[in-house]
Amino acid sequence: MLVDLISNESYNRLSILIQIHVKHQNQTKRLTNMNKKNFNFCVFCWRSIANTGKRLGRTQYFCSLHKSTGATKTAHENYKRRLYATLKLKKLAVDDKLPRHNRYTKIYENVLKLTISPSYALSRMTFTSLGIAKQSVAIFSLISWAYPLTYKKTKYLIGTTFKDKEDFADTLISALTTRDDQETLPIRSASLEVGKDAEIWIPLVIEMLARHEVFELISEMELRRGGTNRGKDIELRNRIVAIVKEYKSQGIEPVQKEIAAKVGRTPQRVSVIYNELKKQNRV
Ligand SMILES: [Zn+2]
Repeated sequence: MLVDLISNESYNRLSILIQIHVKHQNQTKRLTNMNKKNFNFCVFCWRSIANTGKRLGRTQYFCSLHKSTGATKTAHENYKRRLYATLKLKKLAVDDKLPRHNRYTKIYENVLKLTISPSYALSRMTFTSLGIAKQSVAIFSLISWAYPLTYKKTKYLIGTTFKDKEDFADTLISALTTRDDQETLPIRSASLEVGKDAEIWIPLVIEMLARHEVFELISEMELRRGGTNRGKDIELRNRIVAIVKEYKSQGIEPVQKEIAAKVGRTPQRVSVIYNELKKQNRV
């Protein structure tokens, strides 16, 4: 195990080499049980929907950005289309006619098959009662070899000294989220049960990272479009203009991340379009 870790190129980038001991079997069992009982995370993304005493607009299955009704309906449908297409491509399609709970449970499980599974990632890592300094190094090491898109967003944290596990989880979640995410930010570390043993909170962190990786992957993908690209592009632009107008009519400065969530596109894509629209004096 240690030889594996040391020979791993990405691991060598880290200054501290450690070996941690994991009870892998227990981890896997715990992950599976958790999935059966309830949904710790949004079916479509990595945000927590665990019960922390605050509902914050979440539903039983989705975070407030992916609810299937209301203002997020379009974002929900767009993401769903892309996710379903990807699952189908990987022969992991879920029957749309299944009862809702069974369908979402299956999707929730299959999403993790689109990346390195948290249980496999965990099996490459072991931990005992080591403190957060070494645990965080081990987790960043895991991110670096297992979840490249997530690594891009978190690598600046490598070398950071964390006060405790709450501090680590809060900082990690902040790195993944956006500043205007009023749902995820208030509950950060609480949603990962960091008050509990490493055997509980570390698998939750890894699962969140895996789900984040898939979310980034799907979000970056181009939609399989029914019509011509041009027609869809015009539709998307018109929609962004309409959202911006609505914001401005209420005297609110439009936030591009929120617009992106509403139209089901990445903030980067929306930023490009927004700047184009600005040049055309449309927003
Ligand atoms: Zn979500």
